[in-house]
Amino acid sequence: MRILVISDIHANLDALQTVLQEAGEIDQVWCLGDLVGYGPQPNECVELIRSLPNITCIKGNHDVAALGEINISLFNQEAKESMLWHQSVLSLENKEYLRSLPERFETDSVTLVHGSPRNPIWEYILDPYVARINYEYFKSDFCFIGHSHQPIISSWDVNEGVLEWGAPQQNAIVSLHNRMIINPGSVGQPRDSDSRAAYGIYKTDSNKFEFHRVTYNISAVQSKILDMRLPFRHAQRLSGGW
Ligand code: ZN
Repeated sequence: MRILVISDIHANLDALQTVLQEAGEIDQVWCLGDLVGYGPQPNECVELIRSLPNITCIKGNHDVAALGEINISLFNQEAKESMLWHQSVLSLENKEYLRSLPERFETDSVTLVHGSPRNPIWEYILDPYVARINYEYFKSDFCFIGHSHQPIISSWDVNEGVLEWGAPQQNAIVSLHNRMIINPGSVGQPRDSDSRAAYGIYKTDSNKFEFHRVTYNISAVQSKILDMRLPFRHAQRLSGGW
């Protein structure tokens, strides 16, 4: 099976459409959360995800925030402004879909969470120390995560006690082995200084994970952000990948 693995779409429809097109023939889509927040087209993104056949989707912190179920007073001013807009424009049906998403999904070989297996919604895995702790919190061979918006490969060799951690090379194809934590990067708001949309392809037969990047029409999304009177920085950051 060829599974498209995506995360952190953040209401960026142009990036999502480009990724779906570029991915080619796929058997399943796994989405690791944060469908909304920041970008200009939250309803369109949720609807596109909902319409995909064989989709498995989990929820992220922005999806929870958009439901109004958490206190956003600690968000910075721009994030708050943007989140209030998302809460007001999301349709009831799309909110219902976001509410129905699980925090965690597990198969025999893979665990899917947004942040970390220890704290699926909120924890960032940004360094090897936090990664190491999190290997104790899932049983499957691999764990696919999002949330940091940065592509990452980590592996933990239990027998040797060796932890590896790093960003993948361009177009890396990784042979998966027991045990690993993988972040495919962000579709709609990459934060690794590469503005291209990021996604992964998990090939279950050969047990390989491919990291991909694709350019999309960033200026079209920036115009939409400004048209909706959303914070300028949320448009600006897309060109720099931060
Ligand atoms: Zn995110």
